[in-house]
Amino acid sequence: MLICRTREEIQKTVNSVRSQNKETAVSLVPTMGYLHEGHLSLIREARKISDYVIVYIFVNRIQFNNQDDFKNYPSDEENDLILCRNAEVDAVYIPTEKDIFAYGEPFLKMSLPNLTKELCGKFRPGHFEGVLYIIAKMYNIIRPDAAVFGKKDYQQFIVIRRMTEELNFPVNVVGAETIREKSGLAMSSRNARLSEKAKEHAILIFRAIKIVEQQFKNGEENPIVLREIGADIIRSGSLNSVEYFELADPDTLELINQTVELQNRVSFLVSTAVHCDGVRLIDNYICSRK
Ligand code: AMP
Repeated sequence: MLICRTREEIQKTVNSVRSQNKETAVSLVPTMGYLHEGHLSLIREARKISDYVIVYIFVNRIQFNNQDDFKNYPSDEENDLILCRNAEVDAVYIPTEKDIFAYGEPFLKMSLPNLTKELCGKFRPGHFEGVLYIIAKMYNIIRPDAAVFGKKDYQQFIVIRRMTEELNFPVNVVGAETIREKSGLAMSSRNARLSEKAKEHAILIFRAIKIVEQQFKNGEENPIVLREIGADIIRSGSLNSVEYFELADPDTLELINQTVELQNRVSFLVSTAVHCDGVRLIDNYICSRK
């Protein structure tokens, strides 16, 4: 497994792989490190569709709207490299800040207001601009044929897919299913910051989503009622505070607020962000009628 720490190194690597065989399909798995089973599932998806898998690890300062969250973001490069090696990753790109922000603070700002006015976009100003900036940059540096993203960060997946299509990047954007703990809690690098007690409260997030789905299956079609049921279950954990708990269209991310909008649907997105004992956790899940 190659470890590249500069733009030149990763570009040389990709060029050399392609010069040996120009049909080689290259996949990119973007991460912020502190890898877990969720990231490894993206690597497996990438492996299915490509010959050469590149993981990049970069805690992207400009996508953090809260600098404490950035400073407290966990990291363990040594373990990340072991996991990547075991997962048979071909190359890992671990750039430095200087490598990525060679031109200083970005002048360029990309935004997709239609897709980011609600959900995380509403509560994390600048977050998706930072995400789009780094992904577009990585596309240009690495020139992958495909990039794999987790649907745990569902809004991020939709926003990146749209940016990729709209700017005609020749990249196949793949969404991978959320990997969960046995308890249902979505795996996240931030879970490492939860105490055992906090974890018990965090478990309520996915439990709430599944109860909302069950209520929908049982015939409840009022989105306000479903939203309140979900948010109340999460709030029953005293360490939890709900930032948002919304029902939305899975393609447009428009919020669903009216009963008529749910009546003819077979599925909808539940998206939620919760501060659990000071740690911001998100979950996204497509609820189905059947
Ligand atoms: P992060 O390192 O948290 O920025 O995540 C990097 C990528 O892994 C993103 O595409 C995430 O959506 C994805 N990811 C994070 N957690 C999970 C999970 N539990 N299941 C599937 N994908 C995940």
